Amino acid sequence: MRLSGLFTKTRKTVPSDETAKNAQLLIKAGFVNKEMAGVYTFLPLGLRVLNNISNIVREEMNKVGGQEILMPALQLKERYVTTGRWDDKVVDDWFKTKLVNGAELGLGFSHEENVATLMKEYLNSYRDLPILPYQIQTKFRNELRSKSGLMRGREFLMKDMYSFSISQKQHEEVYEKVQNAYFEVYKRLDIGDKTFITSASGGSFSKYSHEFQTLSDAGEDTIYLDRKKKIAINKEVFTDEVMDDLGLVREELEEVRAIEVGNIFSLGTKFSAPFALKVADEEGKAQTLIMGCYGIGISRLMGTIAELFSDEHGLVWPEAVAPAKIIICRLGEDPAVVEKADKLFKDLTGKDIAVLYDDRDLRTGEKFADADLLGIPYRVVVGQQNVDTQQLELKQRSHTTTKLVSYTELVNTIQKET
Ligand code: ATP
Ligand code: MG
Repeated sequence: MRLSGLFTKTRKTVPSDETAKNAQLLIKAGFVNKEMAGVYTFLPLGLRVLNNISNIVREEMNKVGGQEILMPALQLKERYVTTGRWDDKVVDDWFKTKLVNGAELGLGFSHEENVATLMKEYLNSYRDLPILPYQIQTKFRNELRSKSGLMRGREFLMKDMYSFSISQKQHEEVYEKVQNAYFEVYKRLDIGDKTFITSASGGSFSKYSHEFQTLSDAGEDTIYLDRKKKIAINKEVFTDEVMDDLGLVREELEEVRAIEVGNIFSLGTKFSAPFALKVADEEGKAQTLIMGCYGIGISRLMGTIAELFSDEHGLVWPEAVAPAKIIICRLGEDPAVVEKADKLFKDLTGKDIAVLYDDRDLRTGEKFADADLLGIPYRVVVGQQNVDTQQLELKQRSHTTTKLVSYTELVNTIQKET
């Protein structure tokens, strides 16, 4: 991608009502545009990041047997009346709308009712189970406050997976597998060392639900963390009894702020029973299916990563999510320089490396400042002094030093982790 053709520009200022660091950085770098509180447009570079995160989540869900679908955002009222969730006192963040004929609809905030009725169409026997349908979809929630940038949207991207099992035992096996897949996701996003599983209130079907919390002062949650054991307790269930239960002691727990980047929940038969979602077990006896639900906030993760990986110059994307692996800064318009930089762009692109090419007619300082703000992991400079040598000046965004490398060394360095 050539920066000369990119319609987004970096900017020095952000809307005065945008107080969240993640959104400020992303707006300055031209990754997102703020439309209203909690609602953003994802611009070309921002969409690349969002898609990179989605793809990592998708790969890990597929590895544990997830099957991707896409359910509608428009929700039938009757289904939610059946489970009692149409009531605004039960779910307080619904966006609701109407058909021309007056029939009420809801905009999806979570899809248990939808997926349970869907499975009634397709599941007949215990042999079909367990199954794990999931989707990556825009969710709508009328959040009371939305001041955390991408971390709390009123319209946001979520991965929601649902499990259907014939027995509690089968459910527990699935639950554990998904839990491990979540750790893989966070590891690949480079936040594995800061992300901990916490026990949270579980409703009536299991003792606890589990949240995945990433440590950050920008987080809205408070958790009590045992760093050595790598587990934590959510504030709402932080009692002596729960500490005993989890083998934790108060003295070893740290009170820290964190961002909930995912959660997993045993639903029991809460959503299957109202729809009589049953299949025959091995003995031919009809069993109401056991469900689980598993959420990951994809756009919240993008905000979280922006929040955690940045410095005074801008974003510092982990390689796995960066919109490009490397940015070529071409210095000057001299034909020999242009030729050399064009060739490098073509060669790297030909190797399937995601490249940004700063071919704009700007001063060196401006180009370097933009490369830093955009947070591209590697920066290579092609200027007058590189024309006659085989050496290229390579800098890692997370390092202050530059080094001279050959073309082959450059390719080897940036391809090492892919
Ligand atoms: P929270 O306590 O932060 O409101 P939640 O319990 O409502 O989250 P879920 O309904 O379980 O969250 O949604 C699954 C995941 O979606 C959450 O773990 C979080 O990562 C993400 N998420 C929830 N609400 C939002 C939001 N308003 N904006 C962005 N991501 C969100
Ligand atoms: Mg919520």
